[in-house]
Amino acid sequence: MADVPTEAPEHCPGTQSDSAGKASACAGCPNQNICASGATKAPDPGIALVKERLECVKHKILVLSGKGGVGKSTMTSLLSRTLAADDPDRNVAVLDIDICGPSQPRVLGVLGEQVHQSGSGWSPVYIEDNLSLMSIGFLLASPSDAVIWRGPKKNGMIRQFLSEVDWGSLDYLILDTPPGTSDEHLSATTYLKGAGITGAVVITTPQEVALLDVRKEIDFCRKVNIPILGTIENMSLFVCPKCKNTAEIFPALTGGARQMAKDLDIEFLGAVPLDPLLARCCDEGKNPLTDMPESPAVAAVKNIVSRIVEKCEKNERNISSAE
Ligand code: ADP
Repeated sequence: MADVPTEAPEHCPGTQSDSAGKASACAGCPNQNICASGATKAPDPGIALVKERLECVKHKILVLSGKGGVGKSTMTSLLSRTLAADDPDRNVAVLDIDICGPSQPRVLGVLGEQVHQSGSGWSPVYIEDNLSLMSIGFLLASPSDAVIWRGPKKNGMIRQFLSEVDWGSLDYLILDTPPGTSDEHLSATTYLKGAGITGAVVITTPQEVALLDVRKEIDFCRKVNIPILGTIENMSLFVCPKCKNTAEIFPALTGGARQMAKDLDIEFLGAVPLDPLLARCCDEGKNPLTDMPESPAVAAVKNIVSRIVEKCEKNERNISSAE
């Protein structure tokens, strides 16, 4: 009978490990020498580049969701449009790092625009005087191009996005991330380590299947030390545009995001109702703030933005008093 191995086969110890390049699993690996030299343990130079580039950006906010389809991109665009519209002196930008599904060019109405490269970096596309966007969607020949990208290529693109876009001076940079926790999140949080992340806004719908995934997202934030600004419950109620009667489309059997926020000790930023006119307006790249100012969804986002601004400004005051 063949011998049964008593130990698990040895794997790559990882480039950051003390035994990198020295473990028996490293024998024959093409990267053995570089790992053994310790070069892989040095901090990624991209972290310093990102810090330098984002020095003039006051608040960096990640928009996260556990699942696709809960309205993360819609909320990113609405939060950004509202932040910019509330104060003409406030400079706002959106960075769309949802590499496999970049929706921002469509919802912000700039599909098909081109980004230009100059001596000082890539110039974002301007939606308003004080609202700009950079998205992988501008760089792909076909929308399906990035779907086959692997981790290192995505990582390189995120590093470039964070270090090479010439945003100018910004008050808010809102990052639209892919659903779940993926390579893109790890890359973004790693590169933003030096520049600092103000916090994450987590989008969910009220039903338990969505909330379960959000709990994982919150867990991820806590593990990588990203402060959580709060959660938004999207599509929480349906308000009929004609009769204004309300109906619960996704029943919140476990108390919805409000109860989850309480359980996990995070702030409930607000609920945004499901409004079919909003879906159409965003799909057509129109601005809901000017096209449908009476929508209860627009009013709800306005309240949420005031809470986010309040939290960010408080955070800024705390940082400057600690300095
Ligand atoms: P995600 O980015 O989470 O995948 P999207 O923002 O693309 O989700 O939204 C998915 C669909 O739901 C889109 O067609 C969008 O217009 C629609 N949608 C999102 N939020 C609302 C809302 N509050 N009311 C109506 N439709 C919405």
